[in-house]
Amino acid sequence: MNEIILCKYGEIVLKGANRKFFETLLLREVKRRMSLYGAAEVRASQSTISIDPIVGEGEGKTASEPFDMDGAYEEAKKIFGLVGVSRALKVEKNMDAITAGLTEWIPSHLAGMKTFKVEAKRSDKTFPLNSPELCDACGGVILSVLPHIRVNVHNPDVVVRVEIRDTAAYIHAGQDKGAGGMPVGSAGRALLLLSGGIDSPVAGYMMAKRGVCIEALHFESFPYTSDRAREKVVELAKKMSLYCGEIHLHVISVTKIQEAINEMCEEDYFTLLLRRFMMRLACLCADKYQCGALVTGESLGQVASQTMEALGVTNVIADRPVFRPCIGMDKEEIIEISRRIQTFATSIEPYEDCCTVFTPRHPRTKPVLWKVEREENKLNVDTLVKEAFETLYTIKISRGEAVSDRKPAINAD
Ligand code: ATP
Ligand code: MG
Repeated sequence: MNEIILCKYGEIVLKGANRKFFETLLLREVKRRMSLYGAAEVRASQSTISIDPIVGEGEGKTASEPFDMDGAYEEAKKIFGLVGVSRALKVEKNMDAITAGLTEWIPSHLAGMKTFKVEAKRSDKTFPLNSPELCDACGGVILSVLPHIRVNVHNPDVVVRVEIRDTAAYIHAGQDKGAGGMPVGSAGRALLLLSGGIDSPVAGYMMAKRGVCIEALHFESFPYTSDRAREKVVELAKKMSLYCGEIHLHVISVTKIQEAINEMCEEDYFTLLLRRFMMRLACLCADKYQCGALVTGESLGQVASQTMEALGVTNVIADRPVFRPCIGMDKEEIIEISRRIQTFATSIEPYEDCCTVFTPRHPRTKPVLWKVEREENKLNVDTLVKEAFETLYTIKISRGEAVSDRKPAINAD
C-alpha cells in the first residue's frame, strides 16, 4: 500500500497576489524537513502539500532506506503554515483500487469509532462517478467491512475523505492539527531576548509562528551566573529550534555593567538600568544580524519591571519595534504553551539569571524617566555598552543540537 502524508495550508490561501511567495517558502521548508526522514516527492497542489515516499526509484531519486513515516508525520505537525496533517492512502483512480484501499486500509484507521461519513471530492471531472455517487459507493464499502459502524452525516466521529486528484486518488480518515501560523521566514527576522525563564521561549515560538525567523540573544553575568545557567538557555534554544528552524544564539556578558550599576547607582533602579542596557545591546546585535524587531517575554504587571511605566522607561531605548506576544497573557496561559512546546521542564530548572543578581529590595514600579536618566548619567554608558558588545559570541543551534560553539565553556572549574 502506498501511504503518503497530506498537509493542508492555513492562512496563506487567503493571500492574493503574494500567495506564490508564501507557498514557495512553505514548500521549501517542508522539503527540507522531510529530507531528514528519507527520500520523498514533496508537491504542492490545490492548497495541499503531499509527501509521497519514494520506494526504490522515483523521478531521478533512489531510496536506499525506507522513508520514516512516523518520524516525518510528527515533524510535519511542527511546521508553521500547515493547519492540518493526515496520513492518506494513494491509489489508482478507479473504483477497484479505491474499494481495495478502503477494505484494507480503513479498518485500522476507524478503530473505536462508532459513526462516520464520507466526503468525496472529484477535481478530475473525467472520473466516471460524480461526488455524491462516490460518497455512496465508498460508504457502502466501509459499511460492508465494518458492520458495527453507522453513518452520521451531521456529527460523525470521523470523516473519511476520498479525493480524485489529477494523478491519483487519495483516501484519508481524520486529521491532526498542524502548527498553524505562517511559514518561517515570511515575516522577516527578529532578535529574541532569551532568558532562562518560562516566558521568553514562548514569546519566540509565538513570533516564529507568525513567520518570523528567530535570532536569539542571551545576557550572562559570569561569575554571578554559572555555566549551568547558560547551558539551560542553550537547551531552551534547542527545543525551540524544532519549531523555529536554525537559531543563532548570541551571548553577551553584562558583568561589568552590573558591577558598575551596583557600585554607582541607587539600588531601587538596578533592574531598570540593566534592562535599558539590555535594550541598547539588543539593538546593536539586531543591527549586526539584520533583525528588524526585538522580541521579549514580558507580560504586563508580572513583575516590577513589567508595569506600564517600567516598560515605557526601557522601551524608549529601542530604535525598532519591540514585540511582546505574552503581554496580555496570564502566567497559566503562557505555561500551557510552554508545556505544549516542551520548554517548560527546562525553564523551571533552578538556575540564576542576570536579572536575579543584584536585585533591588524595593524596585521602582512607577519609575519616572528623568530620575532613571539621572542615575544612568553616573555611568559611562557608551564605554560600558561598547565593551559588553565586544564579549559577544555565538552558538549555532539546529534541529535540537548545538552545531557550533565559537567559545569554549567559560567556567574553568
Ligand atoms: P522569562 O520567564 O522569559 O525569564 P521573566 O518573567 O523572568 O521572563 P524578566 O526576568 O523580567 O521576566 O524578563 C523579562 C524579559 O526580558 C524576558 O522575557 C526576556 O525577554 C528578557 N530577559 C530577561 N533576562 C534576560 C537575559 N538574561 N537574557 C536575555 N533576555 C533576558
Ligand atoms: Mg527571566
